Amino acid sequence: MLHVVDVCVSFDGRTVLDHVSLHVGGNEVVALLGPSGSGKSTLLRVVAGLQDVSSGVVRWDGTDITQEPTHRRRFGFVFQDEQLFPHRDVAANIGFGLRMAGTDRASVASRVSELLALVGLPGFGERDVTTLSGGEAKRVALARALAPKPRLMLLDEPLTGLDAALHDRLADDLRNLLRQAGLPAILVTHDPAEAARIADRVVHLGDLGSGSR
Ligand code: ADP
Ligand code: MG
Repeated sequence: MLHVVDVCVSFDGRTVLDHVSLHVGGNEVVALLGPSGSGKSTLLRVVAGLQDVSSGVVRWDGTDITQEPTHRRRFGFVFQDEQLFPHRDVAANIGFGLRMAGTDRASVASRVSELLALVGLPGFGERDVTTLSGGEAKRVALARALAPKPRLMLLDEPLTGLDAALHDRLADDLRNLLRQAGLPAILVTHDPAEAARIADRVVHLGDLGSGSR
């Protein structure tokens, strides 16, 4: 269970996160809504360990992880402008984190097949990533993030910039995928319809700060 407690972040003396608190429990998918520039990505980066806080604490299952480096948190990320590694095929992209962690080839191969099935791309392992459609590339990015079995998934506007039909199809798939993967997630979005479509619970960043309690 994730607890963000009273977190403040300022840039150049301007407060972006003002005593923000958020908890995400069990396997719930929480959508974090707010207008552009309100600090959604900053909060996600705090959770990811990519952004220092001026004050406040991040806890996982009661343990203070505020100073824990990103790679030790075992959280998965998918960002809007997710770049796949262009000189590797789909399987190598998905298996990248596992190989870095020293997982043996056979285990990587079997996990990659499992993930390709999960994201609806069975048989795509040997495809050159530069030949994928936008929707397929998103699925590969999601599979890559899920591969090391993260304990929390962080998604920053993963569906922004897709055309409407593809957006709605991927939103439904993402909802199902996160439930099948059985892990908690925070989905950042500026789109209330997308939030309602995917998440179990919708929170507004503006309601998480000190002024609102
Ligand atoms: P959102 O994701 O809700 O659009 P962000 O978290 O990206 O908002 O940004 C919130 C505010 O903080 C914006 O005004 C942005 O310009 C500012 N900001 C974000 N990161 C930095 C940074 N590294 N340095 C200075 N200002 C930043
Ligand atoms: Mg953002």
